[in-house]
Amino acid sequence: MARNQADLILFVLDANTEPNQEELEIAKILRKNSKKVILVANKSDNPQATQNTYNLAQLGFGLPIPVSAIHNFNFSELLQNIEKHLHQLGFKPSKDNLPIISDTIKIAFIGRPNAGKSSLINAILGESRLTVSDIPGTTRDSIDVELTYQNQAFKLIDTAGIRRRGRIEKGIEKYSIFRTIDAIEKADLVCLILDYSVGVRAQDLHISEYVQDNSKGLIIIVNKMDLMEEKETERNRITNLLRHRFDFLSWAPVIFTSAKNKKNIYVIFDVAQQIYTERRKEIDQETLKTALQEIIQAHKPPIKGRTVLRFYDIKQVGINPPTFELLVNDPDINHFSYQRYLENNFRERFGFSGTAIDFIYKPIDPKLARKSISL
Ligand code: GDP
Repeated sequence: MARNQADLILFVLDANTEPNQEELEIAKILRKNSKKVILVANKSDNPQATQNTYNLAQLGFGLPIPVSAIHNFNFSELLQNIEKHLHQLGFKPSKDNLPIISDTIKIAFIGRPNAGKSSLINAILGESRLTVSDIPGTTRDSIDVELTYQNQAFKLIDTAGIRRRGRIEKGIEKYSIFRTIDAIEKADLVCLILDYSVGVRAQDLHISEYVQDNSKGLIIIVNKMDLMEEKETERNRITNLLRHRFDFLSWAPVIFTSAKNKKNIYVIFDVAQQIYTERRKEIDQETLKTALQEIIQAHKPPIKGRTVLRFYDIKQVGINPPTFELLVNDPDINHFSYQRYLENNFRERFGFSGTAIDFIYKPIDPKLARKSISL
């Protein structure tokens, strides 16, 4: 009855568990229905829940929106999503504040030879949910493919460089580091493709460091999942392994795909869209100051000689990438481990999952340095 009366359906699941039999049944019923369903993954207040939300995409309604009802987390994103869908259904907003998605999300597909980049691009081009809006001639050097998915424009950077290689002799293709660097620099986010049957190599780690240094978003894609047996346990094993190998990138989502069987292809774009939203998130200054105060109180800043690192102010100075400026007495006192503590704490409070965050430590003019944020 509720389904029949609704214009839009919010299907709420627990982010910490696999869907149960009843929920799978409900999903089946909802899939038969033409009404738009938004998946909501509640109790998303721990890292494991965040990873699980990607598994919930198997229900076939795209990626869930993680929220925590108890902690009042992420409701603005849920509301934006509801607004977007109501708008598509022809409802008019009462206020003139509808977010318009007009920017193109630029994605670079990077990975070692044979990881399956060109196969994935071809699978993407064949995916009916993605509308390929433009493939210019295939003879020029750097060719970007533009696509639309759920009203969002995407640009895949330098796919020609990837696709054309397939036609050059296999085995001798050059892995052009310059081309890779160029693509990463142009992108908002990078899909790092790994071959399940090969695993992680030093080059993959270098690339992910470069992604981090350039403050991009990152999705780690483990391709060739069709070669996996015992998929559920194997997925968990690999995810843990990757968390260990890429330990400085605990924030990057891991997606398992099969270009061969065209599995999980469009999920890449769901996740990309989510990361892009995270990259554009803004936190107001009062919230930032309170957070910084609590962070400092919980764990004392480092000391060099006799001087303790003092914080005077914090503000967000940019989006895409999210950039925060911190005014301190002397940036040189800062310590790597404290920076990391601060970043982790920021992520726990504000999300930013799937993207690097930039912190700029600036020395304060001593004349202005009256009262630091209290310790
Ligand atoms: P690229 O060098 O990264 O562009 O890799 P290719 O797309 O050319 O793929 C390299 C090899 O892996 C080819 O033999 C593909 O058929 C194979 N391959 C690509 N994706 C998959 C996949 O999902 N599953 C399996 N089993 N093989 C794949």
